[in-house]
This record gives sequence, C-alpha cells and structure tokens, in this order.
Amino acid sequence: MSELAYPYEAPASQALFDRAAAVTPGGVNSPVRAFRAVGGTPRFMVSGTGPYLTDADGREYVDLVCSWGPMILGHSHPEVIAAVQEAVARGTSFGTPGEGEVALAEEMVARIAPLEQVRLVSSGTEATMSAIRLARGFTRRTKVIKFAGCYHGHVDSLLAAAGSGVATFALPDTPGVTGAQAGDTIVLPYNDLDAVREVFRAHPGEIACVITEASPGNMGVVPPADGFNQGLKDVCAENGALYISDEVMTGFRTSRAGWFGVDGVVPDLMTFGKVMGGGFPAAAFGGRADVMAHLAPAGPVYQAGTLSGNPVATAAGLAQLRLLDYAAYAKVDAVSKEIQGLVTEALTKEGVAHRLQTASNMFSVFFTDRPVRDYDDARAQESFRYTAFFHSLLAGGVYLPPSSFESWFVSTAHDERAVQRIADALPAAARAAAEATA
Ligand code: PLP
Repeated sequence: MSELAYPYEAPASQALFDRAAAVTPGGVNSPVRAFRAVGGTPRFMVSGTGPYLTDADGREYVDLVCSWGPMILGHSHPEVIAAVQEAVARGTSFGTPGEGEVALAEEMVARIAPLEQVRLVSSGTEATMSAIRLARGFTRRTKVIKFAGCYHGHVDSLLAAAGSGVATFALPDTPGVTGAQAGDTIVLPYNDLDAVREVFRAHPGEIACVITEASPGNMGVVPPADGFNQGLKDVCAENGALYISDEVMTGFRTSRAGWFGVDGVVPDLMTFGKVMGGGFPAAAFGGRADVMAHLAPAGPVYQAGTLSGNPVATAAGLAQLRLLDYAAYAKVDAVSKEIQGLVTEALTKEGVAHRLQTASNMFSVFFTDRPVRDYDDARAQESFRYTAFFHSLLAGGVYLPPSSFESWFVSTAHDERAVQRIADALPAAARAAAEATA
C-alpha cells in the first residue's frame, strides 16, 4: 500500500467513534458507515455545503457519496433549506393529512407515467416491504423473486441474497430472519432471464412478484443488459405476477423520471426514496391504480405510518424535485462524465485493470478487467485495490463510498473547484491502487 494511504489521523472523529461505540453497536446507525470494508476511522461529519462535507477535525472533502444518493443538489441548497425552515415554523408533525404530501405525490405522478397513485412512507425499506405485501395481497400468491446483489433495504424476506447459484431457494442470510420469512424468496443471478423463466415454469401460479433494482447500484453499478427489464416485465405479465421496479436509488436521479425515464419499461409497482426526500426521511411506493386500490383504507391490505407524509420531509422533497428540471439533470450528467473520464485516465495511466460502469450519472469502478454483469462478477474484483484507492483519495480530500460495492454519486453543486480537487488527488490514488497487495 502506498505511504499516502493512511498519512494522517482524525482524532476528533476517533474520539466520537469511541463514544459512539459505547452506546451504539459498532459505533454507527447503518453498518456501511463504519468503514469496516476499508479500515480506518469513519469520518464524523459536522456540516455540508454544496459538494463539500466538513468533518469533526475541520477537514473538507469533495463528497462523492451525497448521503448515498439523496443530495443531488448538493448540501444545504438554499431553496431546500428555506422550504424546510418555512415548514418547520408551521409545525413538525400533525398526524393528519396535509397539503404538502398531496403536492409531493402530484409532482411524482406528473413525472412518471406508470405511477398512477403513490403512498408515502419514511424509508426505502418500508417502501419495498409494503410493495411486496401489496403484491402478495393483490395476487393472493406467496413467492417473490429477487436477484443476488440487489439490495431492497433490510426487509426480512429480501435479505435473502445468498446462494449465487441458479434458482436457489434462499436460506436466511442473517440471524434473526427465520426460514419461514425467507422461504418464499427465490434468489436468482442478475441479468439471467432464462433463470427467471425456468423458475416461473417450476412454480406455476405461485409467484406474486419479481422485484429488481431498476438499475442496480448496490453491488457497484451493474446496469441491466439490453432487454432484461422488459423481459422481466413480459414474463411477469404472461404469468399473472407483478413486476416491481425498485427506484429507491435511481428514482429522480438517473433522469427526471428516474430509470423509467431511461428504459421506458412499465412496472406494475415502483418504490422510491432518497432524492424524493431532499435529505429527509421520505419514501414511497406506487404504480397501477387498480393494484394500489387494494391498500387500506381503500382496500384490505394494511399499511400505515405515524410519520408518513411528514410535513417537513415532504416540503424538502418537493422543493428538491421542483428544482430538478432538465437543465439540472444535464448538469449532473455532465459533471459525472467529467469525473468518470478523470478516473479512467488516472487508472489507465498507472496500468490498473479496472471497469468503470455507468447507469446514467451513477457510476462505480470495479478493479477487474472483465465486464461485471452480476454479483459473482462483482465479487471477483480485487477489492484490496479499492481500499488503497479510497484511503489515498480520502487523504487528498475526496470522500468515496467506503466500500467497492456501492455507486458513486455527484450533484449539480459539483463545480470546477470540486472537480479540480478530484483531479489533483487521483494520480496518487491510482498509484496506490497499482501498488496495493492483497
Ligand atoms: N432499495 C434500494 C435500491 C436501495 O438502494 C436502498 C438503500 O440504499 C433501499 C431500498 C432501502 O432504503 P432505506 O435505506 O431508505 O431503507
């Protein structure tokens, strides 16, 4: 590993991490934040402005995580902050219907043609969990197909991601998930339509739905092969199952209409989170009105939430979506391309085998010379090179996801100065990746 890899300490973050570890398992409230995959001290951030985060030691980083996707306008966007302040001043939660949630739902429905009705929830996990329940209630079937390497939140039945073999009946991956909870989940290799068709043949009339990330970003960026999503939709339609497109990550990020705006495949149900909450806990699921009509109180499938449609969260989300016009996406796409080019150039110059994969403005780097089409391919990469690359960039003031199995995210706020910081830090990082040993 290059000497640049761990050139400094982060005493204030370390002190906070020690305090956190005393009162919180592993010192974090979401596992990947703990830096376990890359080692070192997780940075405790104290503020964010535009494309920058500042940590407890006073160091500034160009942020290429953007809160794992939501901050597509950068941090502390003045118009989003103003909308939040205005909403907070009127009260923080009413437990009644309010206009903000109607306006947010209208904005979402107006952008995505197949989204006829939406129900707001507070996290992506809730969205996928509720969509699966609705699909089962609607079809009166039990089995669910998901794909290895796709993440849909920590829903019990969807944590079953093990068994990268074909047509695996998943066993619970996580202690605490019972065989009963996971037993109706069938995990298949991503991008393998034949495996899906085979399972439908083997279980006639039993499969409620297929859930897939619209374009996966949770094994790194692994876009669907040409025709894969359409094939899923078709096989679902032929067999009376629902096609659920999980757009929690891609929704309102990969285009004005999310991944639907890219491939145009019409899902029965969709799930959303991240960008639509403007940095607050807001998420949603929705789709065909005849399916959504089965949801309580209109129909028998129960689903609810004390903070669903929270007025502050919906104000933030609505302000963010209204700012996301075609010009904003053009800007995010352009800066993403620019950074992709810099990364490719630096790694190529050092002779580091790598694949930079993209899904519109989402991208990630795999340290391998082979195309990555599924989870097995993703796991075959040389992740130890990512560790060296990550720490060198961190030292250079650039904050990447602390794992090689994640998408990188940029924002409209990533300007010339931020890009220059990345360009300056990349040569040493590429060298560190080249010199890294397992
Ligand atoms: N679905 C996808 C595609 C995601 O990327 C995530 C989170 O990263 C989720 C669902 C779960 O969302 P949340 O973390 O808000 O529960």
